[in-house]
Amino acid sequence: MTLLDIHEPGQTPLPHAGERGLAVGIDLGTTNSVVAIARESVAEVLRDEHGDGLVPSVVFYGDDGQVIVGKDAQTRFADNPDAVVSSIKRLMGRGAADLSGVSGKLPYTIDPATAEGGMVKVRVGGRARSPVEISADILRALKARAEAALGQTVERAVITVPAYFDDAARTATRDAARVAGLEVLRLVNEPTAAALAYGLDKGVEGLYAIYDLGGGTFDLSLLRLEKGVFQVLATGGDAALGGDDFDRALAERLSVDLDSPGAVRRVLLAARAAKEKLTSADSVELLTRTVSREDFEAAIAPLVKRTADICVRVLSDAGIGDEAVRGVVLVGGSTRVPAVRRAVERVFGKAPLSDIDPDEVVAVGAALQAEALTSGSDTLLLDVTPLSLGIETMGGIVEKVIPRNTPIPVTVGQEFTTYQDGQSAMAIHVVQGERELAPDCRSLARFELRGIPPMTAGAARIRVTFSVDADGLLTVAAEEKTTGVVQRVEVKPTYGLDEDELADMIYDSLEHAEDDMRRRLLQEARVEAQRLVHAIDAALVSDGDLLDGAERGALDQARGRVLANVSGEDREAINAAAQALEELSKSFAERRMDRGIRDALAGVSVDRLESRMGN
Ligand code: ADP
Ligand code: MG
Repeated sequence: MTLLDIHEPGQTPLPHAGERGLAVGIDLGTTNSVVAIARESVAEVLRDEHGDGLVPSVVFYGDDGQVIVGKDAQTRFADNPDAVVSSIKRLMGRGAADLSGVSGKLPYTIDPATAEGGMVKVRVGGRARSPVEISADILRALKARAEAALGQTVERAVITVPAYFDDAARTATRDAARVAGLEVLRLVNEPTAAALAYGLDKGVEGLYAIYDLGGGTFDLSLLRLEKGVFQVLATGGDAALGGDDFDRALAERLSVDLDSPGAVRRVLLAARAAKEKLTSADSVELLTRTVSREDFEAAIAPLVKRTADICVRVLSDAGIGDEAVRGVVLVGGSTRVPAVRRAVERVFGKAPLSDIDPDEVVAVGAALQAEALTSGSDTLLLDVTPLSLGIETMGGIVEKVIPRNTPIPVTVGQEFTTYQDGQSAMAIHVVQGERELAPDCRSLARFELRGIPPMTAGAARIRVTFSVDADGLLTVAAEEKTTGVVQRVEVKPTYGLDEDELADMIYDSLEHAEDDMRRRLLQEARVEAQRLVHAIDAALVSDGDLLDGAERGALDQARGRVLANVSGEDREAINAAAQALEELSKSFAERRMDRGIRDALAGVSVDRLESRMGN
């Protein structure tokens, strides 16, 4: 029972909606954010007093602890560039290594003290702030907007994220919501939310593509809509491609001095305004120059082509021809650019659907999902994992446990075993990516399963279970089956990924598929050969006396040939040497077996032996 309500002086507490407040849908965008509410399957975008639904994802930090979010923060940029931060979503879950090579061009000042480990921080308003804390300030403003519009407390939300966000970025988004006092009912992929809004509004069924080009990210998703069930068949995208890059491409045409982050931001803002005008105008003035729409289209052509290439790849990944796609839904402000619409039409062979507001559709879908989750509707939302998840096995080979495009939530278990006799611990290295060898994938977590009872190599049965929840977050557990020793980690990823690497990961895997497979087979041959040498070495220690001098010499020679080849590149040679060694060790193995049986029977009386055999 609550005896006292404590609230800010001067504020009257808002009426409480039920026990845990209303649940809203939030599109937390790189450039713009939107909050919406759904009641009885009708969604409404919550607007300011001017009727604006978009809240620029821009934050101003004043000297006196004042925090301003949105348009008012944007207008303060001209006088106070160092106190204003934008596009912070691009840094969610990113480490210093992710930014190397691009930091000079970024519209932030990265705090040098925090740039070493973990998520980077930016310097703004006189101090270092993390992307989580800045995103939390945006979420707080959206929560306040919703509470003002609804006259009730809002404590729960469905928040959307790009389908391509990795584990680190999703975790950071959840953390930001917690800081802002919002319980996250579900993280939903942005294109999925758009489809949800679209499907429910129009009652369509069939296969749809969602093409979402916003300020900072590009996502393409293929979804099947059927009787209220939405299944994501495939996703692809680029976490570092959007309207910001259009602005940059246009700014670079001007060849003006970009010597400080402040100057970069000013030029980029001017370029953005010009770009947006060029959607309807044939030419505009930009920093005393005239820029035509043709100039602009030439500047962005390579970027538009990158999105088209991704579309083609996702279609072929899913084994779907463009004619099977019933419609293409446009999402995001950058899909207003005529050249983008033409490119989409070329790839899919049909004009994209445009009877849907590209700025608001994601928040509308999120709001509908929030209502479904709190009121128990029968809409089912199936998302997929954007990248494969696996563990590193001997020789750095990646065993994929959950392949890319698996519907989530999902739990998959796989058994592994020990490599050496008496091995009492096993290092588990969890990786994400499409490549065959661990160093080419993203490292998510490492942990150790200890306390494995001593057994011969290959006898232990270690079950590793990967669970991806509905938000796309991964938990990994390892259990030794004979003893029940369990270790579990919630994957809190390390932030070591290079910016381009994330974007190009899947593309890379296709490009390297053949080479990767060759390296994998080579690596497997090496591991097999080493395993054999280990086993023979152990046998020689315990039973070396079973061999005469000549036999021992031959075996040593064959063993030497394996070792001479094992680190080379010739897989055939490794296999041949290993096979020869195995062949040669056969009679040794037989003699060891005989001795083992003799030892086991030594001192056992005949009747005990009989009773044993009778068992
Ligand atoms: P995000 O999802 O990243 O928050 P939005 O979907 O709000 O982004 O899209 C923002 C991007 O759309 C910006 O780069 C903005 O300049 C661009 N944009 C908005 N309106 C137009 C327009 N009329 N013409 C071209 N680009 C536009
Ligand atoms: Mg968006």
